[in-house]
This record gives sequence, C-alpha cells and structure tokens, in this order.
Amino acid sequence: MGIKVAKFGGSSLADAEHFRRVAAIVKADPERRFVVASAPGKRFKEDVKVTDMLYRCFEMVRDGKDITEHYEKIKERYNDIIRDLGLDFDISGELEYIRNAILHRSGQDFAASRGEYLNSLILAKFLGFDFIDAESVVFFRENGSYDDEKTNDVLRAELSRHQYAVIPGFYGVMPNGTIKTFSRGGSDITGSIVARAAEAELYENWTDVSGCLMADPRIIDDPRPIKTITYRELRELSYMGASVLHEDAIFPVRYAGIPINIRNTNDPSAPGTMIVSGTSEYDANLVITGIAGKRGFSVISIEKDMMNSEIGFGRRVLDVLEDNDISFEHLPSGVDTMSVIVSTATIKDEMKRERVLSSINKRVRPDSLVIEDGLALLAVVGRGMVKAKGTAARVFTAISAAGINIRMIDQGSSELNIIIGVEEHDLEKALGAIYSEFVK
Ligand code: ADP
Ligand code: ASP
Ligand code: MG
Repeated sequence: MGIKVAKFGGSSLADAEHFRRVAAIVKADPERRFVVASAPGKRFKEDVKVTDMLYRCFEMVRDGKDITEHYEKIKERYNDIIRDLGLDFDISGELEYIRNAILHRSGQDFAASRGEYLNSLILAKFLGFDFIDAESVVFFRENGSYDDEKTNDVLRAELSRHQYAVIPGFYGVMPNGTIKTFSRGGSDITGSIVARAAEAELYENWTDVSGCLMADPRIIDDPRPIKTITYRELRELSYMGASVLHEDAIFPVRYAGIPINIRNTNDPSAPGTMIVSGTSEYDANLVITGIAGKRGFSVISIEKDMMNSEIGFGRRVLDVLEDNDISFEHLPSGVDTMSVIVSTATIKDEMKRERVLSSINKRVRPDSLVIEDGLALLAVVGRGMVKAKGTAARVFTAISAAGINIRMIDQGSSELNIIIGVEEHDLEKALGAIYSEFVK
C-alpha cells in the first residue's frame, strides 16, 4: 500500500465544519496516513488568522501591553472548534502554558508556531491519530538554515513507528532547543518534508481553491485551473506571487520525485492540479501555463558610454550589492546601460540607499545612475513557449493594446518564462490583458 501525505491549509481548518470535511477526506482513503496541519485561518473575509493573532500577542508583550483580552480571542477560536466538534478534550493547561511562555518572552517564532501546534493536537484527537510534534523531528542549523539530512533521518525513523499521525506544519527546532518557523505559508514546506521522509507516492496539498489556477483568483475572475504543471513552472509562478503553494515547498519532494496534488477541501471531487517533475505534454490551445505578478521592485539604472567593453564593470556593480547584503532579481542590459532589478524592501533604508549609490559611483564612474521605485514584475510561464512561435509578440501586443507602458523585458534562455516590468498601478490591467489574450 502506498502512502499519501495530506497537508491542510489554514482555510481548511478554520472551524469545526472544516475539521469535519478534513476528517471525511482523510478517512476516505486509508493511504492518507500522515496529515500536516496549519493554524486556523480566516472563516470569513474580515476574519483574522490565528497566526496573525499570535504575532500580535508577541508584539503586545514586547511593547509592554496587556494581552489578556487578545489572548482570550485566541482561546475562543480553539475552544469553539473543540466544543462544536463535541470533543472531550481539555486544552486549558496547554493554553495557560503558552500564555505564560509568551509573557515570559519565549520569542516571536515560538508564539507564532503555537497556532499549528494546538490545531494539530485537536485534529489528531478528532481523527484518532497519533501526534508527532514538529519540534522533535524538524531541525534547523545554528545559522538558521533548514537541516534537511538530519530532519530526513530522524523524521523517517519516527514516522516508521506510527501507522497514522498528525504533524504540525510551519516550525521546527534550533540546536539550542528554541522554536524556529519557516517563512509565512511555511506549512507547505513541512508537508513536503514529511512526504519525502515517508517516501510517499503523493503529497496532497489541500486548500480553498480547486488547484493552481492560471492566474490569481483575487485579480482575474474565475481563472481556469491548471491540470498539470512542472515543479519549475510552479516555482516561477509562486515566486512571482501565485501564493497557493510556498515557493520553497517543491524542493524536498522534487528531490525524491514525489508529485504534488493541489486539491480543494471544499470540493474534494475536483481533480485539482498535479505538479510533476517533467512532462512534454502541454495544451497547444493555451500555450502558456499560467501568469502571476508582484509589486515592490526597484530598478538601479546605470549608464556609461562603452560600458560593454569595460572588463569587470558588471562584477564591480554586483560587488557593491553583495557588500550591502542585497540580492538582485534580474539584470537586463544593453550596450551602454545596465539595469539591476532588486526588491524595494532591500534598499528601503535611506542610508543604505545612499551608500549603494555612492559606492557604485566610486567603483564604476557611470555617466548616470538612478534608483527608481514602483515597479511591478509579472511572469508569463509555460513549458509550451519554447515550441510555440510568436508567444512573446502576443504578450507584448496585448499589454500595449491595453495602453500599458512596458518598462522592462527579460526572457530566460530556457524560454520557460517571460518577465515583464510595468508600473505598479498597471499590474492588474496587464495581467488581465495577457489572460484574455491566451484564454479565450
Ligand atoms: P492555505 O490556507 O490552504 O494554505 P493559501 O491562502 O496559502 O491557502 O493559498 C490559497 C490561496 O492562494 C487562494 O485562496 C488564492 O486566493 C491564492 N492564489 C494566488 N494565486 C493563485 C493561483 N494562481 N492559483 C490558485 N490560488 C492562488
Ligand atoms: N500559519 C502559518 C501562516 O499563516 C503557516 C501556514 O499557514 O502555512 O503563515
Ligand atoms: Mg498557504
């Protein structure tokens, strides 16, 4: 019998009604042996995720504010779930312990991680599964990076001792015993780690949409689901804002060749999206697999006559960025121009910005040097683009026809994606124009 790992996101575990749906899904297939759970998410649009409430608690303690009232609301979220499920389960001791730990400054990550910890305890009880604390099986190194080999060894051994188990997502442990979380949305990574350690045949990622859609449903009305997508395509899309799966979640399973299936907890009969390592098949009618876009980029534009013949020019510019701990996203260049696209967040600090400008000035003596903010990037991704001629022309024509100015173009040599830079306020319109060009 194969093993399936099923990860349920916050929206799939927001209240008792959703817990019941999750239980029906898990129990429908005995191969679903290991379940990874997120913290309770939003029950309705204006609701607050428990993870955000916990971050808030941490901040309140740091700022010397009283958390009593705020913490009561967190307690209520869990107590409502337990009561509505009719469970005979008392977590008041756990809740009290956590409150004290937060009050005694146990750290931001500890506070945030308790959302998944408590939800997983409840889910394990409800399903009748064992509970494996991520703290004892997911490890980080001293420098904060994720320790894949140690985790895989310990977790594999632990999983072999359980027939059925729930493991909280999002966090693990540092060598000194303190809790550390992945970045936001990181339960997707835990799911992938568990799938690899379990040598699963499938990693199911259950969420609130019927798979990875061709575009962000918050921007494009009712976008088409993608049937099959490669790990590489998905990574391009998720990095550029398709937030359905954490951008780093593919690494552990890709390593082991385990496919990911994105499914909808609210519509379990929908097949969802299969994420696979490679497929040559693609929908010739569509050509592209999907589009995504993100705001918050800046361009460092450097001009200098005869730049192309000045050996080491590019390296000197990039050295300055490295010295200032800034990574670059794209590097489109011409004969006498070089543009470095960076995330605005990395050069937000005025002093740092000045330092970068004056160092570049000193190192390469450019004719002109400016930093402009307000750039949005969008990615058009598709394994079919290599074969289909004229895709780039269609993309640019569609954007121009919508009256949008293109500020930057970058096509990777793999021809898997085209990256386009537009003004931030044009992002939605540009995505809409491209979507309607390819999806008739
Ligand atoms: P979960 O709580 O299950 O982890 P997330 O909120 O992290 O769910 O991810 C699902 C959400 O991702 C969807 O509700 C949708 O709003 C958003 N999303 C953005 N881009 C896409 C896309 N291309 N396809 C599907 N969902 C997307
Ligand atoms: N609960 C965490 C967050 O809100 C992790 C996750 O949902 O994957 O970011
Ligand atoms: Mg998520």
